[in-house]
Amino acid sequence: MSAIYDSSNIFAKILRGELPAHQVYEDADTFAFMDIMPRSTGHALVIPKTPARTIVDATPTQLSACLATVQKIARAQMAAFGADGITLQQFNEPAGGQVVFHLHFHVLPRWDGVKLQPHTGQMEKPDVLAANAEKLRAALSA
Ligand code: AMP
Repeated sequence: MSAIYDSSNIFAKILRGELPAHQVYEDADTFAFMDIMPRSTGHALVIPKTPARTIVDATPTQLSACLATVQKIARAQMAAFGADGITLQQFNEPAGGQVVFHLHFHVLPRWDGVKLQPHTGQMEKPDVLAANAEKLRAALSA
């Protein structure tokens, strides 16, 4: 079994409105926003609105809601950024590379021959994140 859910994690604070985020999409069950240390241009995160620490303790309903949103974001990234492909990443527990302990899916636009930046590497400028979020919101509503 995985460890218990700690509601003081950063993404829970974003969901409660206690921390800001560059929001891209929201529905009844999921929330999507820009990763502040993007591994590629347009790197977004998708999270369930209800608590789940990892994929191990998530419910099938949480997972299916997240994946439906992941697909929406991936389609928007292909259109907004002219991506050649999409990479999904999802880390569980410290041994699995997880840093923030609220279940999340990384949705990463990719281009032929372009390598990913390091995981949790460099913080992006807020105006760049805001502009990329706006491009994704526009693509989602097109
Ligand atoms: P991991 O738990 O290994 O999937 O890594 C957590 C991810 O969350 C990293 O890619 C971070 O850049 C990202 N991250 C951390 N804090 C924030 C935040 N406040 N807003 C958006 N992304 C964040």
